[in-house]
Amino acid sequence: MKEFVTVIGGGLAGSEASWQLACRGVPVRLYEMRPRKLTPAHKTGKLAELVCSNSLRSREITSAVGLLKEEMRRLFSLIMEAALKSEVPAGKALAVDREIFATYITEKIASHPLITVINEEVKRIPAEGIVIVATGPLTSEEFAQDLKRLTGEEFFHFYDAIAPIVYAESIDWEKVFKADRYASSGEGAYVNCPLTKEEYERFVEALLQAEKVPFKDFEKPKYFEGCLPIEVMAERGRDTLRFGPMKPVGLKDPRTGKEPYAVVQLRPENKEGTLYNLVGFQTKLKYREQERVFRMIPGLEKAEFARYGSIHRNSFVCAPKVLQKTLQLQKEPRVFLAGQISGVEGYVESSAMGLLAGINASRLFRKMKLVVPPPTTAHGALIRHLTEADPGHFQPMNINWGLFPPLEGRSQKRKKLPKKEKYRLMAERALKDLTLWITNEKILDDFICQKGGAG
Ligand SMILES: Cc1cc2nc3c(=O)[nH]c(=O)nc-3n(C[C@H](O)[C@H](O)[C@H](O)COP(=O)(O)OP(=O)(O)OC[C@H]3O[C@@H](n4cnc5c(N)ncnc54)[C@H](O)[C@@H]3O)c2cc1C
Repeated sequence: MKEFVTVIGGGLAGSEASWQLACRGVPVRLYEMRPRKLTPAHKTGKLAELVCSNSLRSREITSAVGLLKEEMRRLFSLIMEAALKSEVPAGKALAVDREIFATYITEKIASHPLITVINEEVKRIPAEGIVIVATGPLTSEEFAQDLKRLTGEEFFHFYDAIAPIVYAESIDWEKVFKADRYASSGEGAYVNCPLTKEEYERFVEALLQAEKVPFKDFEKPKYFEGCLPIEVMAERGRDTLRFGPMKPVGLKDPRTGKEPYAVVQLRPENKEGTLYNLVGFQTKLKYREQERVFRMIPGLEKAEFARYGSIHRNSFVCAPKVLQKTLQLQKEPRVFLAGQISGVEGYVESSAMGLLAGINASRLFRKMKLVVPPPTTAHGALIRHLTEADPGHFQPMNINWGLFPPLEGRSQKRKKLPKKEKYRLMAERALKDLTLWITNEKILDDFICQKGGAG
């Protein structure tokens, strides 16, 4: 066994993982290919460079990402420490000065006596020792090919094509009907939003006029033919959608006994049925336009979006098929995945998976029991999504309240709690369970860096 843990990728997840390891006394070799080789989005040689926005999103505890950040702070996250040191005013969001943020992390990592940073591209998974792969959404080509060997070709993806997800409680259930295509009974897993001819035509027109996010140069792939954005399909002809993802065949509206002119189908995204995915609606529409246009669909007038649609260049694995709850590969448990490549989406989520992979790799190195945070916490909710989502439709996901188990003992009356109050209770539950987990599993007892101080 090697006398160090290898971390591949010095982005958000890799930096956090290295810190968690070193702060538990475990030597780390951190490989980062920049500045020798840049990804199409990174511009510097600094660790933890933010490739786009400088916002880590809401700081409110009643927002799921606000809770995730608070949990990270309590777990002594380096990324959170850097964010709080480099904060710039941004209202309810936590935004950072990206230069100060990345410099802070680079210096902390470089000056830690147990971390050696090596600026080289890794082309193959090391043949032995404990390894954390945190090479991100723009993993270098050669390394990705090698990683596929471990995950299986079919479970490694280079692009995501994400359809929006809405909260079940925001659907107008009076206007939709449950039915699976060609099923005889009126019940089914799918929820169907029926459109009349006029509604369909208005919807297509709005889709065509809506503002889109342009593809970056490195994102213009041939592959999109197989998974076209909904607005591109609409450009091919007024009826294309009606013969594609909005086809009504085999779906009788029980209220009219007839097939609607067109339908939008919603598929449950989780076991609790708190989230629904707009089937086939992958899109490059701007987020605000998605709200405006998709709320024209009958039943979705007041839809609240847990996730917006998007299409990105993104390397990620089909986590429910390849990962354990500890973030180890099922086939090769000495290898952990962390960050966006593990199947989460976003700066904060990627960092959080780096944090957990770092804790668990440090435990494996020291032959300790590995740990999984409770599903009621934001960290645990992400792990649950990674390992329990339907592998047939798995796509990367931001943290959102729909991934958490509902509040226990929810009576009809309690169901009607104002949203903010419900989220406040869920956040309280999460922080209580996190504290218990930290105590019971002795998560921080071995953390030897000074919080906020030098290594
Ligand atoms: C263009 C783009 C814009 C994005 N914008 C946002 C946004 O605004 N907000 C948001 O929340 N999320 C955004 N994301 C999503 C995602 O959260 C970020 O990409 C985030 O940085 C992911 O963290 P990570 O640690 O997994 O990967 P990264 O931060 O990308 O880190 C991976 C690191 O691995 C290195 N690397 C890759 N291959 C190798 C190799 N073979 N050997 C050695 N090093 C290697 C890379 O150089 C990189 O430094 C964006 C993603 C992309 C692609």
